[in-house]
Amino acid sequence: MGRFDGRVVVISGAARGIGFGTATKFAEEGASVAIVDLDEAAASEAAAKLPVTGDAKAIGVGADVADGASVDAAIERVVSELGGIHVLVNNAGITRDNLMFKMSEDDWDLVINVHLKGAFLMTKAAQKHFTEQKYGKVVNTSSISALGNRGQVNYSSAKMGLQGFTKTLGIELGPFGINVNAVAPGFIATEMTDATAARLKMDVEEFRQLNAEANPVKRVGFPEDIAAAVLFLASDEASYITGQTLYVDGGASLSRLS
Ligand code: NAP
Repeated sequence: MGRFDGRVVVISGAARGIGFGTATKFAEEGASVAIVDLDEAAASEAAAKLPVTGDAKAIGVGADVADGASVDAAIERVVSELGGIHVLVNNAGITRDNLMFKMSEDDWDLVINVHLKGAFLMTKAAQKHFTEQKYGKVVNTSSISALGNRGQVNYSSAKMGLQGFTKTLGIELGPFGINVNAVAPGFIATEMTDATAARLKMDVEEFRQLNAEANPVKRVGFPEDIAAAVLFLASDEASYITGQTLYVDGGASLSRLS
């Protein structure tokens, strides 16, 4: 018996990185999983690798979370191919880092649109099904950068915005049997942080080591660390928790939270 037997889970941006790690854990625990990502071929390839069990299925769906029509079509396809939707993980993300005086309007819009508008559109499309069935779980992906990070005014604003989004939907959707929570990862070893290392002209291992030293547990995080927290928040064990943001960061935020 898996915790997610019979459940359908949709995860955006899950063709790789944290999303793929999370999709893998959901599949191991019995869920049918839809990987929604920009590139349908990459999403389908990733879905084919998921360790689904029993009658559960995995599909890849190409969609841009920042585009309303694309999102609505993706959610409808999931419901028709997998028979419903019970859990939504808003994970898709990008970075376009720069100091504000050098940041273009396009880079501001792109980051806000993918993270914040993307979560809004995906959640709006899913909640229609959640409210009808009086059951649903939403887990949003914030970041330790919500607390402020030089060169990330677009990303930090989007990630703190997601915490407000989470609290407000906790209030609005709680009466309909829907829990809305967020995880805020610290440094996680993925292609996203490898790309940051490249931009800073640093070796990937050296960059990871530097970030490991910057938190109390003295290691970097891995997609499985985030997956464990997401699965808990999406499980029925967490049904009395809503509107919360859980920092999963090796304690890196401890000295920054008031
Ligand atoms: P990643 O490896 O870069 O993966 C992100 C995925 O999202 C990619 O497959 C990407 O597709 C997809 N994506 C981007 N824009 C999209 C869109 N408009 N619609 C659908 N999919 C889209 O990133 P990650 O490190 O796993 O991060 C996952 C989430 O965790 C993000 O929200 C990120 O901000 C957050 N986070 C990460 C860290 C970290 O240290 N890694 C820390 C805190 C928070 P393409 O490859 O086609 O662009």
